Amino acid sequence: MAGIEVTALHKRYPDGTVAVDHVDLSIGDGELFVMLGPSGCGKTTTLRAIAGLERQTTGDIHIGNTLVNDLPPADRDIAMVFQFYALYPHLKTRDNLAFPLRAEGLPKAEVHKRVNEAARLMQLGPLLDRRPRQLSGGEQQRVALARALVRRPRAFLMDEPLTNLDAELRADMRTEIKHLQGELGATMVYVTHDQVEAMSLGHRIAILNKGRVEQIGTPLEVYDRPASLFCAAFIGSPPMNLIEVEVADGTLRSKGGLVLTPPPGLPRDRSLVAGVRPEALEVTEPGAERSVPARVVSAEWLGDEIIYVVDYGGQHDVRVRMPPTVRFATDARVGLRHTGATPAVYDVSTEELVA
Ligand code: ATP
Repeated sequence: MAGIEVTALHKRYPDGTVAVDHVDLSIGDGELFVMLGPSGCGKTTTLRAIAGLERQTTGDIHIGNTLVNDLPPADRDIAMVFQFYALYPHLKTRDNLAFPLRAEGLPKAEVHKRVNEAARLMQLGPLLDRRPRQLSGGEQQRVALARALVRRPRAFLMDEPLTNLDAELRADMRTEIKHLQGELGATMVYVTHDQVEAMSLGHRIAILNKGRVEQIGTPLEVYDRPASLFCAAFIGSPPMNLIEVEVADGTLRSKGGLVLTPPPGLPRDRSLVAGVRPEALEVTEPGAERSVPARVVSAEWLGDEIIYVVDYGGQHDVRVRMPPTVRFATDARVGLRHTGATPAVYDVSTEELVA
């Protein structure tokens, strides 16, 4: 296995579109690194450049100690798994797995050994003699993963490999991929627009926006301290509430009078917005201690929790995560208070985290 270094990667398509704008990534040997971002942010282009399927305009890519800029995909010793399974329809599972190895000219015994090993890891034993049309979507994707495994590449590149699967299967496959990555100690770059997938899989996550990296961090870091307003609005379901605040007498106050715990090092004389997670707020009976008057706009009951949308002090759409046992009717007069951790605070003009 090998780490991957991406340095000042820039990709401008002939029509002038800048898909990747000076991106730096340092992916560790044996790391499961996720690239996350909305549609069109440049994830796939970055991955394809690493694979050698797309030539970057400028910038360098190293896999291990090798500068691979001028190497064709076949010589980069990486394996890619895409959203579409791309199995050979006329071949049985065992031959789909063996195909890339036979193409490399490996001896028969070695092909046999590797196919069996990958089949064991991906639990494909009973499926080895079936053709793709006799497999479910999830099974086909497991075969596609196994086909990447048999090659024992220096790194795996995955582009939304679970997108076409239903929710339950996605969760199962997520667990399998994570387990497999750990067992193999594989370097893996995983592209997704699904933050749940990113949070549950990644050792670290790079959040991309308009071809640029907004933040790189562990799932915990990007959840607790999103580096920009973009990240704050992207991570979490529902995401952070963005509440205009002022610093007054050593406290942080919203216009509606909500008092928040101020983080240290708050800048003065700037317009600030606090990012407050829905679970850091609480809907209370009206008049409760430290609460401000609010009104319930709507409630989404999700079984294990309720997301209340409340209105207070002129600020609409504040989302609050509550246990399912705490029930308030729509339009009820309630209280709203901050109970959770110190919020992240952003400068409105730069949109960056300042404290
Ligand atoms: P998605 O999740 O929708 O696949 P992405 O983050 O992977 O999105 P890319 O496919 O890397 O995004 O595309 C980044 C930008 O480059 C987009 O604005 C896209 O329209 C543009 N783009 C991609 N391929 C080309 C091309 N061949 N010519 C011109 N522009 C392109």
